Amino acid sequence: MQVKQLFDQDTWTYTYLLYDEKTREAAIIDSVKEQFERDSNYIKALGLDLKYALETHVHADHITATGQLRNEFACKVGVSEFGGTNCADIQITDGQVFKIGDQEIKAVHTPGHTNGDVSYVIDGFVFTGDALLIRACGRTDFQQGDSSALYESITQKLFTLPDETVVYPGHDYDGFTSSTIGEEKMLNPRLGNNKPKEEFMHIMDTMDLPKPRRIDVAVPGNLVCGLV
Ligand code: FE
Repeated sequence: MQVKQLFDQDTWTYTYLLYDEKTREAAIIDSVKEQFERDSNYIKALGLDLKYALETHVHADHITATGQLRNEFACKVGVSEFGGTNCADIQITDGQVFKIGDQEIKAVHTPGHTNGDVSYVIDGFVFTGDALLIRACGRTDFQQGDSSALYESITQKLFTLPDETVVYPGHDYDGFTSSTIGEEKMLNPRLGNNKPKEEFMHIMDTMDLPKPRRIDVAVPGNLVCGLV
C-alpha cells in the first residue's frame, strides 16, 4: 500500500491518497474542493483507479471534493451513517471494510469531535480525521461534539492499536505531518499519560474557541458532497 499525504494550505487540511501498487486501485480520504484539479491530475498521472472517496466526518472548515471526484472517476462516496448526508453512496457503519486491491481499509466509528467521526485503519496506519490530532484532538463544542464520547473513542479504540501504528491526522497547525499511537499515548497533553476522563472533559469543555470562519458554508456544502 502506498500512502500519499497532500496538504491544503488555506485550511491546514491533510488529504490522503491510498493505493495498491499491484492493481492500481485507490481511495482518497478527506478531499478538498479547492484541490480537486491537483488531486484528479495526480490520480490520472499515477494511472490509478479511484474506487472510494471517503470522509472522516462532515467538515466545518472546508468543502469536500467528493462529488466532483465521483463525477470524474465514478468512485463511491462514503460518509458515516451518522453524518446526515443524502449524497453519499455508502453510509459507513462501524467495522465496515473497503477493499482496494488485496488491501483492506477498516472504518472505526470514533465519535466525539462530531457524532459521525470515522477513523480508517490499514496495516500499520490510522487516519484519525479530527478525532486524534498530533498532541491535540478535535474540538467538541459543535456538530453534536461530545468530550466524554471523544475520550472513550481515543482511549478505548485508537489507543488500543499497536504503539507503532502511524497516526495520520486531518489537520496540523504546527508543521507536523504524522505521529504514532505510542507517542500520543505518552505525550498528548489533553489525554496522554493516562489522564483521567474528568480532566480531559474539563479541558475540552472550557476551551471557549471562536466559531470556525467557514462553518456556515462548509457544513451545508459537505451535506451535498461539495456540489455547490
Ligand atoms: Fe473537523
